[in-house]
Amino acid sequence: MKLLRFIKEGEEKNGVIINGGMVEIRHSILEAVQSPLDDLKRKDFYSLEEIKILPPVQPSKVVCVGLNYRDHAEELNMDLPDEPVLFIKPSTTVIGHEDRIIYPYHSQQVDYEAELAVVIGREARFVDFEDALDFVAGYTALNDVTARDLQQKDGQWTRAKSFDTFCPLGPWIETDMDPSNQKISMKVNGAVKQNSNTKNMIFPVEELISFISNIMTLKAGDVIATGTPPGVGPMHPGDVAEVNIEGIGILQNKIISPK
Ligand code: MG
Repeated sequence: MKLLRFIKEGEEKNGVIINGGMVEIRHSILEAVQSPLDDLKRKDFYSLEEIKILPPVQPSKVVCVGLNYRDHAEELNMDLPDEPVLFIKPSTTVIGHEDRIIYPYHSQQVDYEAELAVVIGREARFVDFEDALDFVAGYTALNDVTARDLQQKDGQWTRAKSFDTFCPLGPWIETDMDPSNQKISMKVNGAVKQNSNTKNMIFPVEELISFISNIMTLKAGDVIATGTPPGVGPMHPGDVAEVNIEGIGILQNKIISPK
């Protein structure tokens, strides 16, 4: 089931993708995850062309993993990490499908990073590996936009990862998906830049949820960005970046200059 948030005639609504279009539901997305499709109270049907898609959730935090693909570690000639390296993107970075990424005037190199995003469905604290997937509402695509020059300059990653619009998320949540074997790619202006599979993750989704929830409480709607495969590189104003994850779909965002 693909669940999304959207705006129609100025009102925020929730919906489920059915037959290439979208049916409005009365439930919130996180409530809808718990319900069989037939039980969701249906309202109006819309085509995707007549709605504005919103980020599927409004996370209190986006917890990101630094280096989590074997093929990316090989590309960088780095040893595999013993534990996940974590950082956080603030909630103010989050934008939705077809929203604009603003290229900050502070940076000369803004990179894309295609990532599988895990959406937490209910509060998670001290979760075991075996139980971890019970806390997942679903999966979506994420672009971990990074001001690479500032990341290298600062040592700390907060500034480089935290500009407004630096976390495109969406277009919707897929609730029925195996996160351990899906193709993941990034295209910029139609050219393939990253092309891998989530099976190349060093730390699988279960381990990330367990590891992170033993540090901090994950709230319903929080997002885990699971790291990026090889091939990260720069974007420029005017470019269109597309994260494509098998089983989910395409998250597309254009990069624009600051005003
Ligand atoms: Mg990343």
